[in-house]
Amino acid sequence: MNTVISVENIAKAYGEPPNQTFALNDVSLTIKQGEFVAIIGPSGSGKSTLMNILGCLDRPTHGKYYLDDKLVSTLSEEELARVRNTRIGFVFQSFNLLPRTSAIDNVMLPLIYSGVKQSERVERATKILTTLGLGERMLATPAKLSGGQQQRVAIARALINDPVLVLADEPTGNLDSKSSDEIMQILIRMNKEGRTIVMITHETDVAAVAGRTIKIFDGKIVEDKLNKNRVTHITKEKGVRS
Ligand code: ADP
Ligand code: MG
Repeated sequence: MNTVISVENIAKAYGEPPNQTFALNDVSLTIKQGEFVAIIGPSGSGKSTLMNILGCLDRPTHGKYYLDDKLVSTLSEEELARVRNTRIGFVFQSFNLLPRTSAIDNVMLPLIYSGVKQSERVERATKILTTLGLGERMLATPAKLSGGQQQRVAIARALINDPVLVLADEPTGNLDSKSSDEIMQILIRMNKEGRTIVMITHETDVAAVAGRTIKIFDGKIVEDKLNKNRVTHITKEKGVRS
């Protein structure tokens, strides 16, 4: 399989010496097409920093990042924006939907940026929302939807440009256990369709769904292993967190 992500000795420093801190320090990893990877680690360990770099939302201060064999540091802002919009789907803990905008308009947004015409935008967004069980709720604004439904809208938006890579930062962090499992079923299905998924979570039962787990601690990878006991459902009861 092709290599989608190749990270070589990257670091992310904040501040100037001697008060410099490293959110990431000498991180190297390779992720191949079709993998489902969970990145785990305690709060403050550098997970979101890594995801922002993988998503071309932020740049490392040291090291190299190749996405689809392209060295990201050589891309212009315009090229980066295009990569983010067409090659990567983002899913966040807090959904990040436009609040006064209907579900379908939220999902169509990335297509406006990529210049798809209105009739095709409506057609594609309708299809994907229907697939995700929201065919009846397309005109609802986020406030009228449950957390699980909002996350499904966010996933529809992430998938609308048919990205090769889906980056999810704590996608179930704001959801109860039933909605969490529904979201994980969608991620599993997307992965079976061949999409590469990198999911950040600090919940071990959520990570157990992935095929591979990378553990981060203090900005370094401390473990990288295949999941022998991969599960297909979230088992543990979990409460709703804010
Ligand atoms: P996680 O997502 O694992 O909770 P983060 O990647 O958000 O961790 O943060 C890793 C470390 O980097 C933390 O110590 C955090 O305080 C620090 N950090 C993150 N963003 C900044 C920033 N903009 N300026 C300074 N320090 C930051
Ligand atoms: Mg984080």
